[in-house]
Amino acid sequence: MSAHIQKSRLDDLKFDNRFVGVLPADPIADNHRRQVTAACYSRVLPQIVARPELVAFSKDAASLLDLSAADCMSSEFAEVFAGNRTLDGMDPYAMCYGGHQFGNWAGQLGDGRAINLGEIINARGERWALQLKGAGPTPYSRTADGLAVLRSSLREFLCSEAMHYLGVPTTRALSLIRTGESVVRDMFYDGRPQAEPGAVVCRLAPSFIRFGNFQLFAARGEIEVLRSLVHYTIETDFPELGPPSKETIVAWFAEVCRRTATMIVHWMRVGFVHGVMNTDNMSILGLTIDYGPYGWLENYDPDWTPNTTDAHGKRYRFGHQPQIGMWNLVQLANAIYPLVEETEPLEQALATYASTYESSWQSMMAAKLGFDRYSGDADLALITELIELLQLVETDMTIFYRRLAEIDSGQQFNADQCMALFANAYYVPDEVSREYVQRVTTWLNRYIERLREDSCDDVSRRAQMNTVNPKYVLRNYLAQLAIDKAEAGDYTLVNELLEVLRTPYEELPNSEAFAGKRPDWARERAGCSMLSCSS
Ligand code: AMP
Ligand code: MG
Repeated sequence: MSAHIQKSRLDDLKFDNRFVGVLPADPIADNHRRQVTAACYSRVLPQIVARPELVAFSKDAASLLDLSAADCMSSEFAEVFAGNRTLDGMDPYAMCYGGHQFGNWAGQLGDGRAINLGEIINARGERWALQLKGAGPTPYSRTADGLAVLRSSLREFLCSEAMHYLGVPTTRALSLIRTGESVVRDMFYDGRPQAEPGAVVCRLAPSFIRFGNFQLFAARGEIEVLRSLVHYTIETDFPELGPPSKETIVAWFAEVCRRTATMIVHWMRVGFVHGVMNTDNMSILGLTIDYGPYGWLENYDPDWTPNTTDAHGKRYRFGHQPQIGMWNLVQLANAIYPLVEETEPLEQALATYASTYESSWQSMMAAKLGFDRYSGDADLALITELIELLQLVETDMTIFYRRLAEIDSGQQFNADQCMALFANAYYVPDEVSREYVQRVTTWLNRYIERLREDSCDDVSRRAQMNTVNPKYVLRNYLAQLAIDKAEAGDYTLVNELLEVLRTPYEELPNSEAFAGKRPDWARERAGCSMLSCSS
């Protein structure tokens, strides 16, 4: 680096590194792979890369750090967020955590390719932790390289921001930077490794602590470290609960249950499949975290998972996400049990998950359908029939709900009118039999009768439905098109998608192309329908 770098706004970032300040550190400074005991983290520096090049940044995420677009376009920004330069006040480290992977206890995992730079306090007094993903090996890298490729980084960058704008709790993404180096990946796990462009994403969240952080200390019997971490989390991220005690720990766990339920209801609302809901990928703040082989439902199919590693058991399929949320919370309950030493209050808190999920799901479905409120069994019957119909023929979930909002509740539909309304949502027109259309028509007319029970007029109902049913989601094939271009050095599509996905509920006449069904060529193409964990 040149010796006379001008002072920039980046140097004004105010760091307040509570995680490393409060919690026990790994005493070994050397960066080699190992088991790290009785410590929450290991200090480690990002690896220097050849030629950092900014691919995209989120101006809204930047504003959380009080940074402007001009700051993000400076060469210094690319240097800092590729990991080449450490700012004064940064104290980089990798976290130590464990987790259950696909239902099996995996022992120590940890930040194998994530390096936390520190936490800043912004002008509004908010705490934001900054984390680079793909910035080189750490003591937790096990047999892997600590790096990430452009393809998976672009997917994480875009989806984090898209989820935020959809109103889904999520970690944020500040920047996507190409490293100018290549990374070798065997994308299909078929023994044909290839060099791919490397990249680093900078993620932001109030905290990156996962269920697995607590689990590891419990599994090792490191109860005092566990206690420190729980107290730290309550004091830092849940201060409204009051000073840590047995009671506050139970109240905190109940709050984690509620937040997790709320997050998963949002996933079900927008058709998001996380793909790898291992307990190390569950945020203690109830944020969607670790965007790997995730996917978006195109045709509504509760059994769908995008993750090839999970193709057999489909543990993390769309419709199973609510149950997995519970399974993961049970593991967290087991982990904090030594601090509570009573099962009853933890079981009660777990019951909060089920009750929150159920009531939020009912309100969410009522909102998707434009009802004033969920009115009980009659609504459930209508919803159940709809969910069945959506699966009988391949129906694009996103398009279906937007079309549904269009109807005029004064109208009685016949089969042809019904077909005309939803034609655009069907993937295989030949599947749509006369008999099927008749069933949908019957449903639609019952639905209209139900709408008439509410006081809402069509214009307001339509507007309300369009605030919960997005027009634009990050369709799997759109992300892949942006990747194809970015790999060829053209970053226009990733930036255009970022802009469209900022207002996912608006009608954008110039962006209709992004709201269409998945094209046929994308049905079986890797990256568009199925993804491997290789990233
Ligand atoms: P993930 O499936 O991305 O949530 O990762 C599971 C675990 O594997 C975490 O501990 C990661 O840090 C680690 N991991 C994944 N990819 C890499 C990599 N390329 N290098 C080092 N560690 C990795
Ligand atoms: Mg992970």
